[in-house]
Amino acid sequence: MKTVDLIVPCYNESEMIDLFYERTTEVVSKIAGYKFNFIFIDDGSADDTLAKIINLAENHSDVKYISFSRNFGKEAGMYAGLKASTGDRVAVIDADLQHPPELIETMLKAIDEEGYDSCSARRVSREGEPKLRSALSRLFYKIINKMSDVEIVDGAVDFRMMSREMVDAVISLPEVQRFSKGIFCWVGFKTKWIEFKNVARVAGQTSWSMWGLFKYAIEGITAFSTFPLRIASIMGVLISSASFIYLMFVLIKTLAFGDPVQGYASTIVILLFIGGITILALGIIGEYLAKMYIETKRRPVFITRKTNIKDEKNEK
Ligand code: UDP
Ligand code: MG
Repeated sequence: MKTVDLIVPCYNESEMIDLFYERTTEVVSKIAGYKFNFIFIDDGSADDTLAKIINLAENHSDVKYISFSRNFGKEAGMYAGLKASTGDRVAVIDADLQHPPELIETMLKAIDEEGYDSCSARRVSREGEPKLRSALSRLFYKIINKMSDVEIVDGAVDFRMMSREMVDAVISLPEVQRFSKGIFCWVGFKTKWIEFKNVARVAGQTSWSMWGLFKYAIEGITAFSTFPLRIASIMGVLISSASFIYLMFVLIKTLAFGDPVQGYASTIVILLFIGGITILALGIIGEYLAKMYIETKRRPVFITRKTNIKDEKNEK
C-alpha cells in the first residue's frame, strides 16, 4: 500500500483545523489502496492554531505537525513539510478548504495510472476575489513568463501532488528565498494540470495584502529571471545611441549657426531623464544584490519550536 503525506501550511487557521481534518479525512478515506498522513505546519500562528493541531495529533495517529518559532511564511511551511515527508506521494494543500480535497483522487490517478510525476491544480475562475487583484495577478503571470525561462501557469495554486522523486528534487534546491511556483516548474518532471473553480474561504480570512502580493511578484521575477538586469543594459545602449545622435545635431547646429546661450530646457530634461534611468538601473541591480546578500548568509528556511516528528532531518 502506498503512503501519501498531505502537507498543510497553517497560519492563524484556528477555526479551520478541525473542519479541514474532518472534511479531508472523510474524502480520502474513500480512496482505496493508499494510507494517508497529515503533516500540519503551524507557521508561528498568533491564535490557538497550534493547540488545535496538538489536540488533533493526540487523538489521531495519522496527524504529525511542526510548529515554527515565528511566522516564516507559507513557502517555508511547504518546504518544512516536504522535507519532513516520507510518503511515496506528497501533496501540499491549504488549510482553508479552498483546495477541494475531492481532487486528491484524480491527482493520485494521474501519477499512478497515467504516468505523470506530479499533478497540480489550476483555478479557472477567480470568483470571490477583488477585480483589481485578479487583473494584477494576470499581469504578473504575463510579465514573469515573458522574462523567465520557467513557465509559470496562470491561475496555478499551491495545490499539488508529487511523486517521491519530484519531492526529493524540490528539496534538493538549496535556495533560502524560495519561490515554489517557479521551483516546481524548474525541476522539470511531467505535470498534469487539472482545473477547478475558485471557492471562497470557509472561515477566517486571507493573510495576503496587496503589498504582500507585490513583494511576492518581485520575488518571483528576480528568483527566476535575470532579464531585468538586461533591461538596464538595453536602456543604457538606447540612451547612449540617442545621446550620440543628439550630440551630432548640437555639434552641426553650433558649427552652422554659432552658439548663443540657450538650451536650458533641453539640458534639464535630459539630465533628469538620464538621472531617473540611472537610479532605476541601480535599483534593479540592488534587488539582485539584496537577494545574493540574503542567500550568502545561508540562514535556515525555518526554525522548529515544537514537533511530534522524531527525526533530526527537519531540525534544519
Ligand atoms: N499560510 C501560511 N503562512 C503564512 C500565510 C499563509 O502557512 O504566512 C497558509 C494559510 O494558513 C493557508 C495557506 O497558507 O493554509 C494559504 O493562505 P491564504 O488562504 O491566506 O492565501 P490565499 O488562499 O488567499 O492565496
Ligand atoms: Mg486561501
